[in-house]
This record gives sequence, structure tokens and C-alpha cells, in this order.
Amino acid sequence: MATNIQAIRGMHDVLPDQTPLWQYAEQMLRDVLGSYGYSEMRMPIVEKTELFKRSIGEVTDIVEKEMYTFEDRNGDSLTLRPEGTAGCLRACLEHGLLHNQVHRLWYYGPMYRHERPQKGRYRQFIQLGVETYGMAGPDIDAELILMMHRLWKKLGIREKVRLQVNSLGTIAERLAYREILVSYFQEHKDLLDADSLRRLETNPLRILDSKTPAMQDMLTEAPALMDYLGVESLQHFYGLIATLTDLRVDYEINPRLVRGLDYYSKTVFEWVTDELGSQGTVCAGGRYDSLIEQLGGKPNYAVGFAMGIERVLALLETVPDLPLARSVDAYMIRVGETAERVGTHLAEAIRDAVPGIKLQVNCGGGSFKSQFKKADKSGAEYAIIVGDDEVRNEVVSIKSLRTEQPQQTLPQAEILAILNTLRAHPAAAQS
Ligand code: ATP
Ligand code: MG
Repeated sequence: MATNIQAIRGMHDVLPDQTPLWQYAEQMLRDVLGSYGYSEMRMPIVEKTELFKRSIGEVTDIVEKEMYTFEDRNGDSLTLRPEGTAGCLRACLEHGLLHNQVHRLWYYGPMYRHERPQKGRYRQFIQLGVETYGMAGPDIDAELILMMHRLWKKLGIREKVRLQVNSLGTIAERLAYREILVSYFQEHKDLLDADSLRRLETNPLRILDSKTPAMQDMLTEAPALMDYLGVESLQHFYGLIATLTDLRVDYEINPRLVRGLDYYSKTVFEWVTDELGSQGTVCAGGRYDSLIEQLGGKPNYAVGFAMGIERVLALLETVPDLPLARSVDAYMIRVGETAERVGTHLAEAIRDAVPGIKLQVNCGGGSFKSQFKKADKSGAEYAIIVGDDEVRNEVVSIKSLRTEQPQQTLPQAEILAILNTLRAHPAAAQS
């Protein structure tokens, strides 16, 4: 006997009973992004491997050990995108979108990283990415943070996330700081774990991010990049802080927030939560002006972030009474051959007359009782009943499946009026 084939480890199906939560969150995201005038971008899921090596950096976790890379039939090295920043920028450069233009873009879709799967960490996961181009000042950095702040409030999870900010300065400032940091770590080499020893050669800033308990005191005492920033970087940073303060968005300055990717400069930020164990970063981003040149463009400005949707949903699941959309508003029961034909006509008439209604028609026959069970199971608000009696008398019956109201038998027009009130229902209005 053939064995069942299962999904790839770390890659998950979203079953129909979970999709309303996803759709709810996705609608909120679209609404918030739309309210700031952002446009959607759609990029391929596969790109040339070279793109990620050049943008993310050879010595990052992603490129070193997490990418799904393969040769296609032509022998070209391709990679399933581990993030969207590189692809979005590649697309904008390729289509000449960055010449004297300003852009506010977002994309939404699966990303792939070969990590050890655990709660909140998967091999296929969904990100909302936001990228903006052409804006130099801290005002756009602040806008991104305000936008997320609005989203958390709208989703009802504002109290579950905290904002951390830091500045990585310019690349020159960071390089100078890197030397100071490396000599500090050299002095404390005995305290470094294996990962950190390796990073000492490749990506020493990332050591600041280490969670190893025995290293924490030493890391707290480490020189802070903020103390080595020039005037321009500091002005940029305090410009952001001033806006956050002005608009009463709480933040913490975390001098050890460095982000894993190579391309950041100046502002970096993360929205973190204490409710998801070590998978605590829900949304992370920052400014990455230099990446545009690195990918062959003219000097320009860029700032963006990416949000892990599974982590947002994990927070959202704990919010009571979410107004999730029903998949079925009304279920039509048809008993008898004539009733089936009449019912099909009626169903089409209902869909014409009640825009947006989710009307499921019983197919495949069955007794009145078994159809009624299916109606109830569908989650519908109403059962619409078409049987021989109804056909003979040119009426339709309707029964509320969620209240004690008795079944009513009414002319078609009155049924339509009742179904039209469904549209005013908050759950139905979500969709
Ligand atoms: P982490 O420190 O959790 O590994 P990261 O620094 O690798 O995160 P980014 O590359 O900045 O993460 O991605 C942005 C967001 O995407 C993260 O904050 C997180 O919410 C989400 N994310 C990243 N990797 C995964 C994953 N493997 N599974 C689920 N979500 C993820
Ligand atoms: Mg990671």
C-alpha cells in the first residue's frame, strides 16, 4: 500500500477553519497600508541566488545556512526568496522606478528559510514587507513606525508589543565602531560562545544580539555604537525620537539592537513581544540607503520593515470576540426534484438581489433532516428551505439557525428583505 505523502517539515497548511483569522488580519493590513497611501508590489518567489548573496551579505545567518538554493534545468543557481527587500529593490531598479521618484510599497507572501522549525519559526512563513524609496529624513522612518502602531491598535494587540529603536550610524561610523568593539571582545574572549567566536571574524556587531546568559553582563558593558555616531546620524536619530515623543508612541532605545542583515544604516527598529517565547520579534526594519548602490543603482534612500504574519496571528488568537467573517451566510435546503430546479433559480435570484451574500446551496440530495444538519454545520445564519409545499404555493421558508425564532414561510420578496439585513451584520461586513 502506498504511504501518504506529507507536507515538508516547517511548511504548514492553513485549513478552512483558520482562514477567517488570516483574512481578518490581511484586511486590516490592507486598510492601514491604504490609509497611508502605500501601493502593492508583487514579485516572483524565486530569484537568482546572486541577488541574495549580494544584498543580504555572505556572512549572515540567512545566506550562510538558511537559504533554499537549487540549480534549475539550465544549471542556473536559483533561491526561494528568504525575504522580500532584495527582490523588491531588484524589481524597482529593473523597471526604472527609482529615477527622481518617491515610492511607498508593500508586498505580502511566503518566504523560505531552512531553520529549525518551532512555534513561531517555520521554513515557509508569511511576511508583510514594506519598502519606501527616495526619502532621506527621519520623517519617513517615523511614518513606518506610526503605521505599525496604528495596526497594533486596530488589531487590539497594542499592549502586547513594545517598540525598540537604535541607530547604526553610517557605514563609515559603523566600521570605526566595529574595530573598537572587536578589541573589546578580544579582551573578553574567554566569555564568548562558539557562535560569537565565529562572528568575531565575520559579523562582530551581531554578537551584541547574543542570548547566551553567561555573556549578558559583558555585553551590557560593551561600548555602545550610539557614542560613536557623528552629528548627522545623531540628528537623524533624534528627529525620529522627537516625532515618536510628539505623537506619544512609547519606545525603548536598545543599544544592542543591530539586526542580522548587512545593509542597514542609521535607524533600526523592532516591535517585540514577551508572549511568544524566544520568537519575540514580530516586526523588524530600518534604513538601508546603501543597498541601492550595492545592487547597481544610483545613490538613493530606502527604509522599510518586514513583519512575520504567523507571529502576529499568534498574538491575535488571544484577543477575545474578533469579528471574523462567516464563510456562509445562508444555506439552501432543496428537497425533491422540482424543488431542486426551482431552488437553483431562486439561489441565483438571491445572489443578484443581495450583493455580497454568501449563499451555499445543498448539492448531492439527501433527506430534509440531513440537509438541515449540513446547514447548521455550515455556520450559516439562516436556512432557506425549498420543498414541494413551497414550490406548490410559490413561497419560500426561512429558519434562523442561531436564534429561537420559529420558521417562517413567506413570498420570495420578503425573504430577500430578510437576507438583505444580513449585510448589516458586522461579521458579514468584514468580508
Ligand atoms: P529572528 O531573529 O526571529 O530569526 P530575523 O532577524 O531573522 O528574525 P527578519 O529577517 O528581520 O527576521 O524578518 C522579519 C520578521 O519575519 C521577523 O521579525 C519575524 O517576525 C519573521 N520571521 C523571520 N524568520 C521567520 C521564520 N523562520 N518563521 C516565522 N517568522 C519569521
Ligand atoms: Mg532569523
